[in-house]
Amino acid sequence: MKFSYITSFILLILNCFSALGQKADTVLKSGHIDSTQIFKLFYVPVNVPAGITEIKVKEQYSNEGKNVLNMGIYAPGDYSIGKTVNFRGWSGGAKNEFFINEADASTGYIPGKITPGIWHVLIYSSTIIKAGLDWKLEISLSKTQPKKPFIIKPAKKIINQITGWYSGDLHMHTLHSDGKRTQQELVDEAVSKKLDYIISTEHNTNSANLKWGYYDPNNLLVINGEEITTTAFGHWNALGLKTKTLIDWRYTPTDKVIQRYINMVHNDGGLCIINHPFYTKDLSNGFKFDPLLFDGIEIWNGNWDFMDAKALKWWQQLLKQGNHLLAIGASDTHKATGSENNLGNPSTIVYAEGLSKEAILNGLRNRTTYISSLGKIDLIFNAQTSNGKATIGETLKVKPAGEVSANLVLKPLPNAVVTLIGEQGPLFTVKADREQYQWTIPAASTKFIRIEVRDAKDQMLILTNPIWLK
Ligand SMILES: [Zn+2]
Ligand SMILES: [Zn+2]
Repeated sequence: MKFSYITSFILLILNCFSALGQKADTVLKSGHIDSTQIFKLFYVPVNVPAGITEIKVKEQYSNEGKNVLNMGIYAPGDYSIGKTVNFRGWSGGAKNEFFINEADASTGYIPGKITPGIWHVLIYSSTIIKAGLDWKLEISLSKTQPKKPFIIKPAKKIINQITGWYSGDLHMHTLHSDGKRTQQELVDEAVSKKLDYIISTEHNTNSANLKWGYYDPNNLLVINGEEITTTAFGHWNALGLKTKTLIDWRYTPTDKVIQRYINMVHNDGGLCIINHPFYTKDLSNGFKFDPLLFDGIEIWNGNWDFMDAKALKWWQQLLKQGNHLLAIGASDTHKATGSENNLGNPSTIVYAEGLSKEAILNGLRNRTTYISSLGKIDLIFNAQTSNGKATIGETLKVKPAGEVSANLVLKPLPNAVVTLIGEQGPLFTVKADREQYQWTIPAASTKFIRIEVRDAKDQMLILTNPIWLK
């Protein structure tokens, strides 16, 4: 493929967008991205005349496989960073073409009226070879028969109001980003695995959130979220968003605007979680925003592995410094069970005043939670003095010279070991062969205690959030 060859600078590229061979309803745009322009965002303008009812965009680029070109689109109007009102979809590197009309759209994209004016296709390269990347967009503008407009249908907010422990998965993808399942398939699998709740976290789009009400059954709570997938500074999950909320991703740590987006999530009643921090090419911590601005860390992503062990170590360090950060675990599932990231493995089990969006998010905020690859199990962990008692997520008042009794109730797990952990590391490790454990520690010896249960191969089975001692 030979396209007009431009070496650098967005202005040059914009000037060289040319209609190469126009049919009445097809616009062609092309250009070159230099290897030095990795992660640089390009907004390709497309003039959409009045009367058009459907837009189709098809992308082609050189050395696909070695190169990756991400794609999304904005309707006419302000598309500057932080302005998401004209956002009409994002597919990242997961799709080469998409369509939008009033009734329907490709997954990842938002159905609705095609406003006349200048639309902008956003492209950027996240992987690029030395020779750079030649790209071509074929935009088809057509007039179709009027169809029934799309109607937003959010998920139910309440399943029940019974206080108890609820098991769920906080991180997953469908065809609305780079997952392989439909929303229906994901929901069916969650029900068959007896999960109580799932949180939908597509990359940089809210298109799935607008539709969960068409699929959510009466016995599964679906909570809206988004995986904010930045260019090169890490991923984080916004959990518990309102249906139409979209959190922008187009900024860097040096822009110093992250707090604004965290506030948006908190204003919706949600939580901000750092995702898979060590899932990077060189296995270093790839999360480049200030971790202390966030509510928690996904320390366990899919099957337990050395990257999770690194995340656990980081979290322990942050706890030791006195930061009350929530630890969560989630599958980050993309495919049906049988893949390396199976839905519900691990799950995060939350103590909540009901199976509702508000109660589950409150439970996560209270950090009365544990992570498990064994699903929901009866686990009771508390710390006690002669004056009081506290459970996971709570703070127990202690006297510096006093003692604390740590108590755990858990079904016997053959070949596993239970460890009580404090700020300096393991305090006691014993075989997980009984139903009750009791340890006594000096109150001044640690700021917190927490539990880990591992199997004979040192794979994590259960991990609780800490009880704080003050
Ligand atoms: Zn991610
Ligand atoms: Zn993900």
